[in-house]
Amino acid sequence: MKSISIIGAGPAGIEAASILAKQGVDVTIFEKSSSPMKNVADKAYLFPNFAAANDIVEAMNKKLMLPGITQQNDTDIVGLTREGQRGWKLTDSQGNSYYTDMVLLATGYTPFDAHRKEELGYSIYGGVVTSIEMERMIRYNQVANTMMEKPRRVVFLQCVGSRDEKSGNHYCSKVCCVTAVKQAIEIKKQLPDTETFIFYMDLRMWGQHFEEMYRMSQQEYGVRYVRGRISEASGTFDGRVQIKAEDTLMGMPLKMTTDLLVLMVGMEASAGTRCLAQAAGICGEYGFAQSIDPHLKDCQTTQEGLFVCGTCKRPMSINDAVNDARAAALAIIDEIK
Ligand code: SF4
Repeated sequence: MKSISIIGAGPAGIEAASILAKQGVDVTIFEKSSSPMKNVADKAYLFPNFAAANDIVEAMNKKLMLPGITQQNDTDIVGLTREGQRGWKLTDSQGNSYYTDMVLLATGYTPFDAHRKEELGYSIYGGVVTSIEMERMIRYNQVANTMMEKPRRVVFLQCVGSRDEKSGNHYCSKVCCVTAVKQAIEIKKQLPDTETFIFYMDLRMWGQHFEEMYRMSQQEYGVRYVRGRISEASGTFDGRVQIKAEDTLMGMPLKMTTDLLVLMVGMEASAGTRCLAQAAGICGEYGFAQSIDPHLKDCQTTQEGLFVCGTCKRPMSINDAVNDARAAALAIIDEIK
């Protein structure tokens, strides 16, 4: 029987491991953190049905318990080389080597580093936070201004580090529009008196029930939308944030003061994805891993025995990553037979 190594124990890596294990394939799944599902574990609820992230993490962790799956946490795979007939050699950051017939890259994404948008004042003004931090605030019921008081107003800014010439990322990160809508609704549920505004370039409600969520945010929760970009954020003497923006529908510059400015940071290829994709010769645009063909061979690569799935290829939602992992597992099974 061929040996399979999966790198990355996020939703995609775990789903692929469970499908393969159910087919009687032995799998080793490597994770650089001390526990799987790190990116999801900090979330509160997931779009579009507000499922508790905890429930998803628990369900995925159960899948890891299937016979045939060996978990290797705290193992940062930094080297990936083809060893002829021996298959693939994986090397971790401690210098240990592992040999395997096939590899599935599921190394995921990393959130855009908001420090790179200096004009937005992240980590300069306490009221400027990222969507990752806002998710934690919502999860622990701690949405508060810099004085630890209930915020009067929260403003979301879309497309931070995506669709952006300056940061070099021309692509859309796909999930931040709907995440802002979801977070604004969650804030209104916890703090009905807090005003919420979403500044957007255009709203991409591409998935099932997304449009309904967007309508619900306006009709039931009073979330307000402004088509425009925020060019600059600065602090005020009382710990709030002043933003300069242009309402591109009205064609008017505007200023607004808010307690919290939430930067909806996009997805970038993770360090692991960049490093391993480069090492294996499958590095595509923006550092993401490249499949052979987006239509018919989207989990296969130009390298024999090397497969890819999930957000190491491009931004995608959790459910898309899980479905993609199933496709990758089937492609691997097909290759084994
Ligand atoms: S999903 Fe929305 S916020 Fe995110 S990059 Fe695309 S358009 Fe911008």
